[in-house]
Amino acid sequence: MQAVGQAIAAAALDARRLRDSVRLLAVSKTFGPEAVIEAAGAGQRAFGENYVQEGVDKVQALRAALPDVPLEWHFIGPIQSNKTRPIATHFDWVHTVEREKIAQRLSEQRPEELGPLNVCLQVNISGEASKSGVAPGDVAALARSVAALPRLRLRGLMAIPEPTEDFSAQRAAFAALRTLYEELRAQGFELDTLSMGMSADLRAAVLEGATIVRVGSAIFGARHYQQG
Ligand SMILES: *Cc1c(COP(=O)(O)O)cnc(C)c1O
Repeated sequence: MQAVGQAIAAAALDARRLRDSVRLLAVSKTFGPEAVIEAAGAGQRAFGENYVQEGVDKVQALRAALPDVPLEWHFIGPIQSNKTRPIATHFDWVHTVEREKIAQRLSEQRPEELGPLNVCLQVNISGEASKSGVAPGDVAALARSVAALPRLRLRGLMAIPEPTEDFSAQRAAFAALRTLYEELRAQGFELDTLSMGMSADLRAAVLEGATIVRVGSAIFGARHYQQG
């Protein structure tokens, strides 16, 4: 985690940005509560999860293990419409909203006693037919619907570009997301979050303006997916 922090700091310096303008989201999917406890002990507070049941189990395990440490939980996986309630109930942020129907359900199901659910719209920046995310041309319309929902707070945009080792291609994809973000801000949306960059491309993302980088393997090591 220290090495990731240093990589973010170095990229921020090169981008002439303040180190604190980039938040590290530690992606703990497939790792157990002990890994989160260890990272929390080192000062990490924001964690990302992709799978609803695994994420909810971990949120509850951490609340029991570290009741006095306020952790922030971000849902960053694909959302099925029959799984919105546990997300609305247990998470603070959702990065992967790509349909109005899902946003409506999250807003309706967000418990009154919690603050609004923070939301980023996932954009299909690489244009692959199979990839998730709203098409760039449809982002503004989706932003209008989401911004109008009472229990959601629209914070920004998120993307997972097609993986590439070509640094300039990495930068170009992130620059495209940043341009969309700036267009929305120019239209009056009050956004403050660009969720982009993972272990393999976080430097390019920070150089292009990421405010949240989502980093898993560079912190926790390689993932071993369970069967079934
Ligand atoms: C798994 C995942 C990450 C972290 O990926 P690493 O390559 O391990 O850093 C980031 N964002 C999303 C949406 C993910 O699913």
